[in-house]
Amino acid sequence: MRTLPRRRVLTWTTQAAVVAGAMALGLPAAAPGDPLTNGTAAGAARRHVRDVLPTVSADAIALTIDDGPDPLWTPQVLDLLRRNRTRATFSLIGRQAKAYPALVKRITAEGHSICNHSMTHPRPFGARSTAAIQQQIEDAQEAIINAGGVAPRLFRAPGGDWRAGVLGAAASLGLVPLGWDVDPRDWSRPGSDTVTNRLLTAQPGDILLCHDGGGDRAQTLESLRNVLPALSHRGLQFVPL
Ligand SMILES: [Zn+2]
Repeated sequence: MRTLPRRRVLTWTTQAAVVAGAMALGLPAAAPGDPLTNGTAAGAARRHVRDVLPTVSADAIALTIDDGPDPLWTPQVLDLLRRNRTRATFSLIGRQAKAYPALVKRITAEGHSICNHSMTHPRPFGARSTAAIQQQIEDAQEAIINAGGVAPRLFRAPGGDWRAGVLGAAASLGLVPLGWDVDPRDWSRPGSDTVTNRLLTAQPGDILLCHDGGGDRAQTLESLRNVLPALSHRGLQFVPL
């Protein structure tokens, strides 16, 4: 299983758990008025575009693409995004970034943003020690920067595992935890029509989750060919986070 149902994620991101995790690490709780926590439980994973970019248009949505860069699928996704004049956010695995630096450079050069998605994508991520979690995040940060990417300010936990220790580790490294609103479960290859229909449920302000790594992503590509123009025609504006 690559991602977890939203309900599980929400259970794990209770403010109490987050604050307890932050306190255990000697971190201050998020200050009231911090734009990054506006409308969101302190320290919880951000699930809406305006939780990350408070000043963007209410019609903004964000496409996040996880588990790359991948030598077969990432170039095709980048070509499709360019054809649709769409900028996205790539959640990169550090090990992949280290192996394919030219793709990291291309992602950056074409105006997309980059999110840290751990060094090797181990799961269950939150079951590891705090030191191991921090090491995973730090190693990925270094790998992405060394590959020519801009230093990420966002972190997405493998499998969306937002246990308090994960949120605390991200906070201690100054990274914003990035969640999502719409999960089409494209990684499970349910058919491109199903992926398309799930992505078309997107509402203004939503963060969408797709994958360009970790397996055959032909269904994801086929779906995005339809979804990108369809959502744009509804007046939604894709923004990189
Ligand atoms: Zn992932």
